[in-house]
Amino acid sequence: MGRVLILGAGGVGGVVTHKCAQVPEVFSEILLASRTKSKCDKIASELSRPIKTAQVDADNVGDLVRLIKEFKPELVINVALPYQDLTIMDACLETGVHYLDTANYEPLDTAKFEYKWQWAYQERFAKAGLMATLGCGFDPGVTNIFTAYLQKKHFDHIETIDILDANGGDHGYPFATNFNPEINIREVTAKGKYFAYGAWHETPPLSVHHTFNFEGIGPREIYLMYHEELESLAKNIKGLKRARFWMTFSQNYLSHLKALENVGMTRIDPIDFNGQKIVPLQFLKAILPDPASLGPRTKGKTNIGVIAQGTKDGKYKVAYIKNICDHESCWDEVKSQAISYTTGVPAVVGAIMMMKKIWMKPGVFNVEELDPVPFLEVLSNMGLPWDVVELPAMPPVLA
Ligand code: NDP
Repeated sequence: MGRVLILGAGGVGGVVTHKCAQVPEVFSEILLASRTKSKCDKIASELSRPIKTAQVDADNVGDLVRLIKEFKPELVINVALPYQDLTIMDACLETGVHYLDTANYEPLDTAKFEYKWQWAYQERFAKAGLMATLGCGFDPGVTNIFTAYLQKKHFDHIETIDILDANGGDHGYPFATNFNPEINIREVTAKGKYFAYGAWHETPPLSVHHTFNFEGIGPREIYLMYHEELESLAKNIKGLKRARFWMTFSQNYLSHLKALENVGMTRIDPIDFNGQKIVPLQFLKAILPDPASLGPRTKGKTNIGVIAQGTKDGKYKVAYIKNICDHESCWDEVKSQAISYTTGVPAVVGAIMMMKKIWMKPGVFNVEELDPVPFLEVLSNMGLPWDVVELPAMPPVLA
């Protein structure tokens, strides 16, 4: 039994709050706080048990410390934006509270995600006897845990991993992003990057692609991208020779994105507009559909998993571990589409692991450093079942 503070009342925050509310035996009291209190109140009104809500500026350590001291949570689940990771970690250190997030810190003015800023908190969390669990969404998150599980149960040595993220959902809008548009577009317009033989290799944005046939979705174009879990997996999965990340995009999405890029709407540097400074990408976010509003319109499935090749008992082996999630079922259960659902549910499962002290040690950890078995057991029961199958060989497009 314990108190949890959820920060961020967006698409993911809504799912996290719904799911925490379903487990009163673990989360006896819930406070949902965000920049806009009315969004917290709206989520609270959808629940069958009462929770507290509050306004907070998560960029302001003093504001966070005041809120944490008042509510006295055991754990803070950070599902605000990556820009707030460090201020929230600072506030957790100052108040002696454990921390969990789903995305690594990004400076506002550089579209670059790296763990170095958060890994630099290792000593301070360890000394304070506090735990920070980083990247506990789906990818990063479950994909890291899938890899750790394959490492523990299916391989003696993993040589390569390919993370495959397919969204077969259709929301009917000409263009919309499935999670925060600013974060999503910064990620998609960045150069591709993968790890091979001890070095990082860059590719022009979305220039490497193949067709892959996804169970539950069908054939889709997959694009090589850099994704933040590659950095920690390359460090933590010993002996890994290659790690790549692939995501599906429709031609329609890419054509819109190209046009927006060509006219400068994806820029993240401030420009002068009528005597005011505005960031084009932030303005674009303001006029695009709110990802939290896509839920009732989205039909189809997501399929996210990891294909690993390596050896077991001296024999070459390929294994594919994945989850398939249905957008409409997510809406029926927690009023969300599957992208927010597949992020929010793992965050809650990670929080359960920490509250029950199954995952509890002082320091800063990426999730592949923690025991994957109890996490994956609870994940299935919380709405994200998964399966693992052996493949006869690597799919040719990934070989
Ligand atoms: P949204 O934009 O929908 O929600 C973010 C929320 O944070 C909003 O409610 C926003 O407030 C609030 N917020 C922003 N700045 C502040 C601040 N300074 N103080 C307090 N609250 C603030 O994003 P999502 O829900 O889609 O994403 C949430 C997080 O999940 C992001 O970090 C994203 O990168 C991550 N993510 C991780 C994934 C994974 O698989 N690991 C996949 C998808 C997302 P307001 O409502 O006022 O704007």
